[in-house]
Amino acid sequence: MTQSIADGKVVSLHYTLRTKGDDIVESSVGGEPMLYLHGASNIVPGLEKALTGQAPGYKGIVTVAAAEGYGERVEVPPQSVPRSAFPAHVELEVGISLLARGPNNQQVPIWVVALEDDKVLVESQHPLAGSTLHFDVEVLTVRDATQEELVHGHPHGDDGHHHH
Ligand code: ZN
Repeated sequence: MTQSIADGKVVSLHYTLRTKGDDIVESSVGGEPMLYLHGASNIVPGLEKALTGQAPGYKGIVTVAAAEGYGERVEVPPQSVPRSAFPAHVELEVGISLLARGPNNQQVPIWVVALEDDKVLVESQHPLAGSTLHFDVEVLTVRDATQEELVHGHPHGDDGHHHH
């Protein structure tokens, strides 16, 4: 029986993400398909919404506004952090993301936006905040999530038994 995409389903798909122009930001085509658990915020809300009710074989281009993607961009200057504040083993490069400690000791992602002498400029916004996203998607398979996957909030490989 063909399953359609709903909360609690594990979906595998191929996708290519473009922003304005034809810039390819990322793509699974030519590699392993992406697996995600529907309804668990594994993917941006706009894409999750557009895929609801689709079935294997669905192909389409889904356009997601920034608000339903990585959020609107807030124009705040990046924060300057001394290089010495980063662990020595971390290779700092523009574009990488790191986890920092938030005000309540929670982990928050930050992105390196520039490197200057002994300073690192970081932002807490996703680099794609403010961008309209165009996902070229092809749904390959849809299956029920296992109990363990539902508890963890993410898929465990093609058969649901991949340990990590
Ligand atoms: Zn897990």
